[in-house]
Amino acid sequence: MSNVRVRFAPSPTGFVHIGSLRTALYNYLFAKHAGGEYILRVEDTDRTRLVDGAIENMLNAMKWAGVNHTEGVMLDENGNVTQKGEYGPYIQSERLDIYQKYIKELLDSGKAYYCFCTKERLDAVREQQKEAGETPRYDGHCRDLTPEEVQAKIDAGEPYVIRLRLPEDHKITFTDLVRGDMEFNTNDLDDQVLIKTDGFPTYHFAVVVDDHLMKITHIIRGEEWVSSTPKHVYLYEAFGWEKPVFVHLPNILNTEKKKLSKRQGDVAVEDFKKKGYLPEGLVNYVALVGWSPEDNQEIFSMEELEKAFSIERVSKSGGVFDTEKLNWVNHHYMKEADDAVLAELCMPYLVEAGYIAEDEKEAKMDLVKEIVSAVKEKLHYAKEITDHVSIFFGDKFEIETEEGMEFLKLEHIPTLFDALREKIEAAESFDADSNFAILKSIQKEYKIKGKNLYMGSRIMLTGQMHGPDIPKVMEVLGKENCLRRLDYVKANVLDKLN
Ligand code: GLU
Repeated sequence: MSNVRVRFAPSPTGFVHIGSLRTALYNYLFAKHAGGEYILRVEDTDRTRLVDGAIENMLNAMKWAGVNHTEGVMLDENGNVTQKGEYGPYIQSERLDIYQKYIKELLDSGKAYYCFCTKERLDAVREQQKEAGETPRYDGHCRDLTPEEVQAKIDAGEPYVIRLRLPEDHKITFTDLVRGDMEFNTNDLDDQVLIKTDGFPTYHFAVVVDDHLMKITHIIRGEEWVSSTPKHVYLYEAFGWEKPVFVHLPNILNTEKKKLSKRQGDVAVEDFKKKGYLPEGLVNYVALVGWSPEDNQEIFSMEELEKAFSIERVSKSGGVFDTEKLNWVNHHYMKEADDAVLAELCMPYLVEAGYIAEDEKEAKMDLVKEIVSAVKEKLHYAKEITDHVSIFFGDKFEIETEEGMEFLKLEHIPTLFDALREKIEAAESFDADSNFAILKSIQKEYKIKGKNLYMGSRIMLTGQMHGPDIPKVMEVLGKENCLRRLDYVKANVLDKLN
């Protein structure tokens, strides 16, 4: 095992954005490729954003997607949150004593200081700076309080935060594996709050302490964190710690090249799960949003991704999330999937649409397997099943279009009807092959062929002009249902035509 250790560090907000799935996936793939460790840490220090059940929700989404970690916060076999690994706890709110110890170190060395400024004062300073055309930042009001002044204020119960003391005009550099060499000057940075009034660390402080203590070697995260990285790098310097390698992933954009956001529809992993995408399809597609493999391969199993993935081929510019492309990839997996798996996946949508009653689910599973095998060529994701199945349910139906009705007026239809009815009734086996033989024998005996034969049979049996292969449709409907449908169409449609 290499010493590579990476982490996915979500703040559980109850919603797993597709961008988070990609960050997790790239961390996972990077670790797997290098034979290293992939860790999941929960960053819950922002107490105002806590949502009940959000950790479970996020862990379930990762498990569903197959982006599995072996260290950190995970679910046990009963679905309860648990932790595993020698660098825990892996939930930041359980590490407060650790942050206390390290903030004390910075206070003692003068690299951090207490700040008692009220919100009103900070707002007023910001306003003034804005008016003067300056970049708003903390004005250093509390930087030089004496230890006695600080103690007196603490004793008087004044609320405080602890800030990082940045040196003036100090160059901060780091290398980003996607963006190259990065350089910042402390004159453009703020004395970052490290400990908040509620005693909790800020993200910036906790992330550095944890990444160091958890021996993280590479930090792979979204590009929204680039501007925070110099503060983190300075903290590593202040502690005298070796800094990890940074990788900032490009944003995920929509097809209009804007940042993919909740308002535009499906962006949560849960949304895609609910529509019945296969996890393999979603993960395969998400891997390609921002990373390009060496050749033009587009379909990748997880194992293939683990082999092929490299940070060098992650692009600097945003990756476009294109639902059509996702559908194309997922369609591939739908076609490949086992009928039993697809039937399970499709069943809830059939129940929801009222085709199958809740208590018939088990009894109708075989039927649904048949249906799925007949229509899976048409499915991008499971929920679409309901657009293709009406022909399989019930034995009464409408002739769908005027064109279909006109077709039934053709001269050969009565002969076709009689031949079909007779041959179906006499049939001993009723699978797709024997049904195909029935149609072929009609062609031979009655010289009805091509569209006249196939379209004619299709309309009489389903009311529709298009759909899956008709011998297969007949098999799924079954002999009795086919006969009932023919009788229905005769009495209600054919006999009424002039
Ligand atoms: N908690 C941060 C987030 O949710 C993690 C950022 C990082 O990976 O450092 O995005």
